[in-house]
Amino acid sequence: MRQVGLFDLAGTALELGHGTSKALQSAAQNAQQNVRFYPDFYSWLAAAGRCLLAGYPPNLVWWIEDRSQARQSKNSIKLHHSESIQDFIDNGRAACCHSSEDRWALLYSILWRLKHDEPQLMELAGDPEITLMRKYAKAVFRDVHKMKAFVRFRQVDGDSPRYVSWFEPEHFIVEYAGPFFRRRFANMQWSILTPVGCVHWEGDGELWFSDAVEKQMAPSSDKFEDAWRVYYKSIFNPARLKVQAMQSEMPKKYWKNLPEAQEIASLIGTAEARNRQMIEQRKKVDKLHCGSRPSHPEQIVKKQLQVEKLSPLNALQLQASLCSECSQGEAATQVVFGTGPENAKIMIIGEQPGDQEDLLGAPFIGPAGTLLTNALKRAGIDRDQCYLTNAVKHFGFEPQGKKRLHKRPEASVVSACGKWLQRELEIIKPDIVIYLGATAASTRFGQQVRVQRDRGQLLKRDNQRHLITVHPASILRMERGPVQQNAYVHFINDLKLCAVSMAEPECKPV
Ligand code: URA
Repeated sequence: MRQVGLFDLAGTALELGHGTSKALQSAAQNAQQNVRFYPDFYSWLAAAGRCLLAGYPPNLVWWIEDRSQARQSKNSIKLHHSESIQDFIDNGRAACCHSSEDRWALLYSILWRLKHDEPQLMELAGDPEITLMRKYAKAVFRDVHKMKAFVRFRQVDGDSPRYVSWFEPEHFIVEYAGPFFRRRFANMQWSILTPVGCVHWEGDGELWFSDAVEKQMAPSSDKFEDAWRVYYKSIFNPARLKVQAMQSEMPKKYWKNLPEAQEIASLIGTAEARNRQMIEQRKKVDKLHCGSRPSHPEQIVKKQLQVEKLSPLNALQLQASLCSECSQGEAATQVVFGTGPENAKIMIIGEQPGDQEDLLGAPFIGPAGTLLTNALKRAGIDRDQCYLTNAVKHFGFEPQGKKRLHKRPEASVVSACGKWLQRELEIIKPDIVIYLGATAASTRFGQQVRVQRDRGQLLKRDNQRHLITVHPASILRMERGPVQQNAYVHFINDLKLCAVSMAEPECKPV
């Protein structure tokens, strides 16, 4: 078995063997390589491993799907396990089912970079190739989700009953989704027919696959058709009707294959009247419980603060939700307060919430948050044990078309928001505070702080340890390649100081 850093490839013959002379080998490395492979993930991975061993760069490899090639099982490939490789496999298995033609080349390019000088590539959320692979994987997951929801079997009468379904996926997901249906309908014999290939199950043994067929091959109704319609009518709630949301969850193109879809038009048509009826009914019930209802958010919050036994942190969060000390909150969706355990030993302070944080209401859940979580994990720190917050609690942005571009907060905004951060520090009382970037560091060390000069050392002040480091978004903004990789490793090393210090409490006074 041969080690190639990323893989041990068992039983996969090298096209360029040991006997090949160096000159021949280098000539071959510069020529275009047509690589034929059975189009599934593990067969491709075996071929990709051979190409890596032979040193074929991504721009010279031409991937040719060929169903006459031997299929490789997962077990024929021994993987050298690391979290990056596992992440690559989990996403790659889905992304390779995408209908775009560049998918195999994209996966090979990522594999090449992982093996050569970017081993942490998978953790860089902003990298264009990683973003594209994840986008493909997401589209495939969505397609599989639709297949799970909208496959409807119809019984075909014969000696023993067989259930057959017709489904039209957007991507090549039949083999990927097959095992789900085997588990779900283990005791039936069934076939799912699609225009990109079919999958069959005989009740035991293995799933088997066959070529694409046309819709006429599938039955269009059976004796259970009416039962589906009655069931659908009984679970339909007119008060919850959102036609657009329904159509995006259950797009029209699937309707033609769903027996219950015939009911949709009439249910939508009568929904308004049924809804009015329900509201009238509700009013009658409400009269029995009349009391004054707070109409202003301020009233709601004050009431909540009075009547509910809130933890100091939750009470603070509620108070902050009313803050209008500066204008930053006017355009933002909501206050994004800190999250994490109230007894956290480590508190991490960022700059301000970003676009996704603003929409979802929690800090560090966008790309910079993903990078931070990965880096913390590598440094041996569990994100869930940390308290994460920001110097500024509202998202500040410049609108540009439909986009909202991050705008660095002004010193006056940071200062206006300082009281919330101060209270968070008093409540959490962390042993170590990590400052991500200059804005965060300025909240404690003022304007004279210089991140590149002051980073990476534990400073002691007021019985607390402090660590200044870069903001993860600054790494995401870098041009991809070794410089970005080094910056990421440097960031991890800074964070490791914090992990080490938790065990050994000595640090430098300032
Ligand atoms: N950047 C930050 O500084 N904070 C967040 O919560 C997200 C991105």
